[in-house]
Amino acid sequence: MRGFTVKLILCLLVSAPSHAADLRTRNVILVTLDGVRTQEVFSGMDPDVAARSAEQVYSEIETGRERYWAESPLERRKLLMPFFWGTLVPSGMLFGDTTNGSEMLVRNSFKFSSPGYAEMLTGEALPEVNDNVARRFPAITALEYVRTKLELPKSAVAQIGSWDIFEFLAASKDDVLVTNGGYAAFPAEFSTPEIDRLVELRRNVMQLWEESSNDTITYYIAREYLREHEPRLLWLGMSQSDDWAHADRYDRLLDYLHLTDRLLQDLWTTIEAHPLYRGRTTLIVTTDHGRGLGPVDWAEHDENIPCSEYIWLAIIGPDTPPLGTKVPAGTVYQADIAATIVALFGLSPAEFSANAGPVLPGVISGNQ
Ligand SMILES: [Zn+2]
Repeated sequence: MRGFTVKLILCLLVSAPSHAADLRTRNVILVTLDGVRTQEVFSGMDPDVAARSAEQVYSEIETGRERYWAESPLERRKLLMPFFWGTLVPSGMLFGDTTNGSEMLVRNSFKFSSPGYAEMLTGEALPEVNDNVARRFPAITALEYVRTKLELPKSAVAQIGSWDIFEFLAASKDDVLVTNGGYAAFPAEFSTPEIDRLVELRRNVMQLWEESSNDTITYYIAREYLREHEPRLLWLGMSQSDDWAHADRYDRLLDYLHLTDRLLQDLWTTIEAHPLYRGRTTLIVTTDHGRGLGPVDWAEHDENIPCSEYIWLAIIGPDTPPLGTKVPAGTVYQADIAATIVALFGLSPAEFSANAGPVLPGVISGNQ
């Protein structure tokens, strides 16, 4: 009996790093919405961009105005994203509200997609990630680090997204994670009849551009994967916000954000209904880059478009205090996301990468 007790204590000592014992997070879900500006997140429908949209032949912005317009920016953002503002933000923390003294920026100089995701997942701006070409980079990502350090099975860390490039940015090596994107078949070993049905549907739904598939179907694939395989770390990459914006369709972009708000609500409901996720999951929602200001530049983003570096991030979970937009004042960076994910699993950000940004301030209770 005594021997058994000693053995049990030893096992506990070995299996739990000291600072992990206080964390309640078991799972992390990272949701990225491609190229969503702070302007829409914090102020809803932009009157200047909407005025130009009204001049376009095919725009249905007047319907959007009925749905999303109010005089006050605080009202407008709630009309556009009611679940995000009504439930998620009050339950967690939202960085990037410059009117509240919080600024969030990308460190990379390029201000487009691949450099942004690489910075987010490796914790540093990598100068060699300077295009959106499908290739891997040597820097280790938070996703593969968490899987390796915790010795998780392959199914426990997954990347499911609408853009076919995401899988190359998710890990420095092939086959270390479960990945699915674009119009690709789901890896057979981890698929289900429902995922196969959704993948076939996705293949037959035509999108605006060729390389990106439908975000709603991608979301349902991710939800089915979550229920079936119960991943500890999931990156859900959505991409149609960037497509509608590059097409200069502000009316569709607003409807897209409203739809995405419903998908976030469904994701949260799924989390809350699942015994392994309820009260044990940290949800991070963010973007890879901002976009320009005003009725012309809003559609584009890169190093020549001012303000493309402004981004935002929401984090909600059992270890994060419910401060809403009252986050610590100052500037945080996209490069801080990787260390935040690593720390949420009780792992050491310093051991993960000497070059990675710090953990976002205040998001883990007691950790500044
Ligand atoms: Zn992007």
